[in-house]
Formats: sequence, C-alpha cells, structure tokens
Amino acid sequence: MKIIAYGIRDDEEPYLDEWVEKNNVEVTAVSELLDSTTIDQAEGFDGIVAYQQKPYTSDLFEKMNKFGIHSFSLRNVGVDNVPAEAVIQNKIKISNVPAYSPSAIAELSVTQLLALLRKIPEFEYKMNHGDFRWEPDIGLELNQMTIGVIGTGRIGRAAIDIFQGFGAKIVAYDVFRNPELEKAGLYVDTLEELYQKVDVVTLHVPALKDNYHMLDEKAFNQMKDGVFILNYARGTLIDTQALLNAFDSGKVAGAALDTYENEVGIFDVDHKDQPIQDPVFNNLFARRNVMITPHSAFYTRPAVKNMVQIALDNNKALIEKGSSANEVELA
Ligand code: NAD
Repeated sequence: MKIIAYGIRDDEEPYLDEWVEKNNVEVTAVSELLDSTTIDQAEGFDGIVAYQQKPYTSDLFEKMNKFGIHSFSLRNVGVDNVPAEAVIQNKIKISNVPAYSPSAIAELSVTQLLALLRKIPEFEYKMNHGDFRWEPDIGLELNQMTIGVIGTGRIGRAAIDIFQGFGAKIVAYDVFRNPELEKAGLYVDTLEELYQKVDVVTLHVPALKDNYHMLDEKAFNQMKDGVFILNYARGTLIDTQALLNAFDSGKVAGAALDTYENEVGIFDVDHKDQPIQDPVFNNLFARRNVMITPHSAFYTRPAVKNMVQIALDNNKALIEKGSSANEVELA
C-alpha cells in the first residue's frame, strides 16, 4: 500500500513518521499543496491525504479516477473546498477528521478571556511605556461571571468543563440539546434569553446560512452592558462593523477572536512587508480590549498529531476496506 500526503509541514512530519513505523505502510510526504500542477505526483499511489484552504478543483478528481485512486482523506473537518459533484462522478471516497482536539480550542478561548478580564494587554502596553501603576485597570473575576455558551457540541462542552472548573455559572443554547446538560438545567429556549442573562457570550457553532451575522446590532442590543464576546468558531457569525459600534457605545467591554469574517489573505500570512489593507480589521486589531489570534486555536501538538494520524488511519481503511468510520457523504 502506498499513500501520498500533500501539504505536509515540518511540524507534521514526526507524527507522520511515527505512524509509518507503526503501520508499515509506505507514505510519501510532499510539501506542495494538491492542485493541477502537483496531482501527477500521485500516479502509482493507492490513496491521497491532504489539508489546505485552497479549493480542490474538479480536474483533480478526474485524474484520481484515471490513476485508479478512490481514497481521499482530509486532515481537517471542513469539506467546503471539495467539489461534491466531481467527487461523486469519479467514485472517490472521502474521509475527514471530525474532532482533533476540542480542548485545544476551548483552552485558548478561556486563556484569552482571562487575559481580557485582568487587562493583560493594557498592563503590557503601559509597562512597555514605563508606566507600572495599577489604576485605572482594575480586573474582573471569572468565578463571579455567567457564561453564555452557544453551541454545546464537542468544543462547547470542553469550554463548559473549564468554565465550571473556575466556578463560573453556565447558560447554554443549542438547536440540539445534550441530555446531560439538559438534566443539569443549563439550557435556555431562546438566544435572546441567553443574551440578557450572561456576562460573556462564546460561540461554538458551525457557520451556516441561517446564522450568518448571528451577532448583529440587534443581538448586541439585547446583551448586558459591558459584555465580553468570544469567537473561536467562524468569522461570519459576527457582523464586525456592528461589533465595532458596540465597542464604541460601551455595550461590549472586550472580545477575544480567533476568526474574522474576511480572514483569508490576512491570517497565516507574514505581513511584515505587506501591511493589511482592511480598515475594519485594522480598527479591530488596534484596540487593546480586543485579543486576536490568527485562526490558530487548533494549532497544538496533540491536535496536529491527531490530524495527521487519524487522516492516515482513515485513508488506510478506505484503501483496504472501501470504507472508514470518518467517511463523509457528499450530497
Ligand atoms: P460540533 O458539531 O461538535 O458542535 C456544534 C454544535 O452546534 C452542535 O451541538 C449543533 O447542534 C450546534 N448548532 C449548530 N447550529 C446551531 C445554531 N444555529 N444555533 C445553536 N446551535 C447550533 O462541532 P465542534 O467540534 O464543537 O466545533 C464547533 C465549531 O468550532 C465548528 O463548527 C467550527 O466552526 C469551529 N472550529 C474552530 C477551530 C479553530 O481553530 N478556531 C477548530 C475547529 C472547529
């Protein structure tokens, strides 16, 4: 069995080597992404593993079919850059890694919230300018706060566990309720009820058509004054201009964001010699009560290990058995 893995970064290689040693399968790792110029390298292999934001074009799946490759495994969750029709037409089986480390995302969101509550960015700014005084940067305590968790799937539940460890109170909302959280009485029936009750709103839902800009002017107006916003899910869940207005009116006291609605071309790019040209993003980024990370919440050693090794497990299963527990049905 021979697998080719595209877009392999240096930090992924040790986990790939470890898997190869355990499984006795030949894996060729290439650093290039999978596209029309690199697909020919896959000829002679039994399966393909890949991870990239760049769209996978239809011609790639025609080539796979021509090469007799019918097993394609993503190292990430999302299949939005995969053309469903071409995949089905060419009889390619696809798998993903549905959960690589919910704790990685949950831990960073809580870390950044704590930094906001204790005004760490303000203190760093002041001290870098020689000012070591306390005032006026008095902090808040997480144990005294009520956290509104929207989306109680894997990441939302990991976040709830951490918040409860700090002694915070939880109010939750989800379209599909988790039975244990339901038993604990954590859910409210409407988002409006959640907004009215909480000191922090944290988003852990997928981006769908019906929740585009779910946090808009109307939603912010329903929240308490001085609310904190966390978005470790998807940028399009927040109307960024409405968030900026909510900062200016004093409605929102702080935000920690790992996503931004127009992040492609901004995140995971070195901007030293090419300044960011997006005025809305720059306005957000300049604020010391906004903490931004470049969609890096997933980026931990345990998560990267899972992304590589679960994708290879999936690809091996697709090649050997024609199916995988993590197979994705594209409609
Ligand atoms: P999950 O599928 O386990 O949970 C999602 C939950 O959201 C489910 O319980 C679902 O019922 C609920 N939901 C869906 N639509 C909803 C809506 N409109 N209102 C309320 N609830 C709704 O997913 P997960 O693994 O917990 O991931 C959550 C999100 O986190 C992902 O969709 C993704 O956008 C994001 N994510 C971010 C990173 C990162 O690095 N920042 C990494 C992985 C995932």
